[in-house]
Amino acid sequence: MPNDHLAAAVRRVVSSDNCSGCGGCALIDKRISMGLSGEGFDRPIVAPDNGSSSREAARRFRRICPGARLDAPPPSAHEHATFGRYWSAWQGAAADEEIRRAGSSGGVLTALSTWLVETGRSSAVAAAASGENDARRTVPVRITSRAEALRAAGSRYAPVPTLDGWDPDSDQAVVAKPCEVAAARAIALDRGNSSPILLSFFCAGTPSQRATNHLIETLLPGQNASEVVALQYRGDGWPGRFRVRTSAGNEGTCSYEESWGKHLGTDLQWRCKLCVDGTGMSADIAVGDFWEADERGFPLFSEAEGNSVVLARTERGHDLLTAAARDGVVVLRSVELDDVARIQPLQTNRRAVLGGRLLGRLLAFRRTPRYQGYGVISRAIEAPIATVKAAVGTLTRTIGMR
Ligand SMILES: Cc1cc2nc3c(=O)[nH]c(=O)nc-3n(C[C@H](O)[C@H](O)[C@H](O)COP(=O)(O)OP(=O)(O)OC[C@H]3O[C@@H](n4cnc5c(N)ncnc54)[C@H](O)[C@@H]3O)c2cc1C
Ligand code: SF4
Ligand code: SF4
Repeated sequence: MPNDHLAAAVRRVVSSDNCSGCGGCALIDKRISMGLSGEGFDRPIVAPDNGSSSREAARRFRRICPGARLDAPPPSAHEHATFGRYWSAWQGAAADEEIRRAGSSGGVLTALSTWLVETGRSSAVAAAASGENDARRTVPVRITSRAEALRAAGSRYAPVPTLDGWDPDSDQAVVAKPCEVAAARAIALDRGNSSPILLSFFCAGTPSQRATNHLIETLLPGQNASEVVALQYRGDGWPGRFRVRTSAGNEGTCSYEESWGKHLGTDLQWRCKLCVDGTGMSADIAVGDFWEADERGFPLFSEAEGNSVVLARTERGHDLLTAAARDGVVVLRSVELDDVARIQPLQTNRRAVLGGRLLGRLLAFRRTPRYQGYGVISRAIEAPIATVKAAVGTLTRTIGMR
């Protein structure tokens, strides 16, 4: 029986808790499918080898898997300490009021997805939406119309292997989390595909499916979970409320602050604590919340009309954004990125402590993803106290988990 190199390579990433559940590996080998783990995260399942050597598949896996390695994208016109490379920076929203209201922040990604397919720039956009058969789950979808884009609008704070729904040999665009977009870029490069249009959003982490299920039980105690017919995390306002509805018409709801702060954001996968890029550096365009903030910079989550920060990361992203603005699809205003950094404390702090967290994992004899070109070591050296504190904290937590 030949060694199953592919299965071993995948196992190394998953067993070290470095898998982000992106679904990229399912595109490189038919033996891999994605499924929900006992901890409530999407993870690859590798079917037994059919006898052919999987050495080449393992090599391809290691090139594209963001749990194994991530290479920083090539430089752009500007570089920002928190947000990395960018061509131009804006705040804005969808011009279409229905899309703006449905969207997570300003509906910019929904507006751009609609525009990309309606103008023929992409045949479809791979994204994520509530499951048709089970609304509690989030599934990969392909957007080919405004109606489909609206159905996929809003953030889904749950596992979904978005890339599993993408055809990397086509002209399909992708809207996905930063790690997924980085994997999509690597897959496209690997296949010699002339680089697909990649859209992303700021990401604090993927919560377990268990967190969603638990929140449903809290809001609708005693209800049969299989009767859930609609579930949205945000949107329909900004930030909008978590809403769940059953076939019997019972509805449970709570604020974004409560759903994210007390339930979803407290049950994240490990990989997200080691994330080197939570702002979509590998994308052409990346979008985040342009929160109102208090005097210390902490976001206020009072309801308002949706407003996004929009970064063109590449020249192509800049051209697309300005063309979409000319077509009346998005309304944009130029913004200073230092002002954005002040209202995104999580993204700023995360970059400052990453070196320490990686060190803590290594000291606990755990593998970490290899990050090339992100300046992790130089940042760690610049902030030695934060690095040591993060290393000790991570080491303690990792040992405590055993
Ligand atoms: C897991 C997660 C973490 C986030 N963390 C942050 C954060 O730290 N800071 C911040 O400013 N904003 C965060 N957001 C919100 C995100 O930045 C906003 O969605 C962004 O501002 C885009 O707004 P929009 O109105 O343009 O998006 P919309 O127009 O609502 O479009 C959202 C698009 O994202 C896709 N999508 C939704 N959920 C997922 C998912 N889980 N995986 C893949 N694709 C998905 C949808 O299919 C849709 O195409 C997070 C969102 C998610 C899903
Ligand atoms: S991070 Fe993505 S490519 Fe790597 S093992 Fe997990 S699902 Fe597969
Ligand atoms: S925090 Fe980073 S690793 Fe986690 S889902 Fe978001 S982009 Fe991926």
